[in-house]
Amino acid sequence: MKTKKFLLQEKDIPTAWYNIAADMENKPRPILNPATKEPLREEDLYPLFAKELAHQELNATDAWIEIPEGVRDMYKIWRPTPLVRAYGLEKALDTPAHIYFKNESISPVGSHKLNSALAQAYFCKKEGVTNITTETGAGQWGAAMSYAAKAFGLELAVYMVKISYHQKPYRRSIMQTFGAQVIASPSMSTKAGRQILTDHPNYQGSLGTAISEAVELAIQTPNCKYTLGSVLNHVMLHQSVIGLEAEKQMEMAGEYPDIVIGCFGGGSNFSGISFPFLRHKLTEGKDIRIIAAEPASCPKLTRGQFQYDFGDEAGYTPLIPMFTLGHTFSPAHIHAGGLRYHGAGAIVSQLHKDKLMEAVDIPQLDTFDAATLFARVEGIIPAPESAHAIAATIREAQQAREEGKQKVILFNLSGHGLIDMAAYDQYFAGDLTNFDLTDEEVEKNIAGLEKII
Ligand SMILES: *Cc1c(COP(=O)(O)O)cnc(C)c1O
Repeated sequence: MKTKKFLLQEKDIPTAWYNIAADMENKPRPILNPATKEPLREEDLYPLFAKELAHQELNATDAWIEIPEGVRDMYKIWRPTPLVRAYGLEKALDTPAHIYFKNESISPVGSHKLNSALAQAYFCKKEGVTNITTETGAGQWGAAMSYAAKAFGLELAVYMVKISYHQKPYRRSIMQTFGAQVIASPSMSTKAGRQILTDHPNYQGSLGTAISEAVELAIQTPNCKYTLGSVLNHVMLHQSVIGLEAEKQMEMAGEYPDIVIGCFGGGSNFSGISFPFLRHKLTEGKDIRIIAAEPASCPKLTRGQFQYDFGDEAGYTPLIPMFTLGHTFSPAHIHAGGLRYHGAGAIVSQLHKDKLMEAVDIPQLDTFDAATLFARVEGIIPAPESAHAIAATIREAQQAREEGKQKVILFNLSGHGLIDMAAYDQYFAGDLTNFDLTDEEVEKNIAGLEKII
């Protein structure tokens, strides 16, 4: 019988995270203070983030950073995750390619986000923090942070974009089940929220507003820090456990990937699966292709510009060097809510600029075609976000068939879609559309960016 799953044991959970910045010849440019345009120092980040996380954020010298025992212990709840050979998908595509996926959907909250949420909660707890805040759009990050906060005995306040709070009640219930306080944003609990509600009483909220509220509450509450689920360097670092495990599992399978693929929102699961492999390219000159799969309606890597920009819509965060569509870019309401983000993290952006990786953009209907095929042949209903990686994998596998080449493809299944069935319903009813962006629409918000680079 052919081996379907490659399984590691608890003792194989990585003992150190991999920090790719240390191995990059061109380091990511520094994060800047928006007022002075001076690089931020570690201490500048202390009011918002736990000190250890601030240190990790700016660390471009240590390739390996020890995973504390307390975090590894929590990882044991569901890690190591399986590496699976997608025989069903290979057969359906009649491709000579060998397709593998790393199944991050088996985490208690159904996505990879818990890998970083637990680490962030741990470092906050360790320095005596009692309360944390965060924001969530579609709810995946909020769900992960809720469990992580509870696990380390922290109180969590989640600002959830008001429209999602009402439209995605199950993610809200999940957060409440884990004991978090979930507040629809904009709210009356902060100055930023009250201001917006005074001006626009019916405003349904945005991620930008939710970030402002979460940051304001963190700064004003004693012993309170703010947490973020993607984009930042320390989040990419924590997610490296995905690729480090996959590296060992590919060895068990006796293969090495020619192509590694991840879907792309702010870059955390993509970095997680790909950086440990990209490391072989940077340090040993290994020939490997790394592909980020982003939505055609939010194409920062394929059509955006490399420039300093804010991390949030409202412009409250430091300036980050990134491929961006402009922080005021408002992506179409595709169902892959976790990919509706205007920019990419600093490390990924530098790697992309240096042509060490590639990006493709995928129209919404292709992602649901891919998701449905995958569900039927592999038995797992993927998150709409993860379906972008599946669609990109299918393209490569079809290409391999046309060329008659036997390639090895590895992709990350970042999450399952069991709480996204309303999106599948719309797809089956023929109510989903693609969103084409004209060059004018892409350039409109980019044109407003200050030309710092
Ligand atoms: C949040 C999320 C993403 C996108 O975020 P990244 O930081 O780009 O990984 C992708 N897939 C799932 C399942 C998510 O929850």
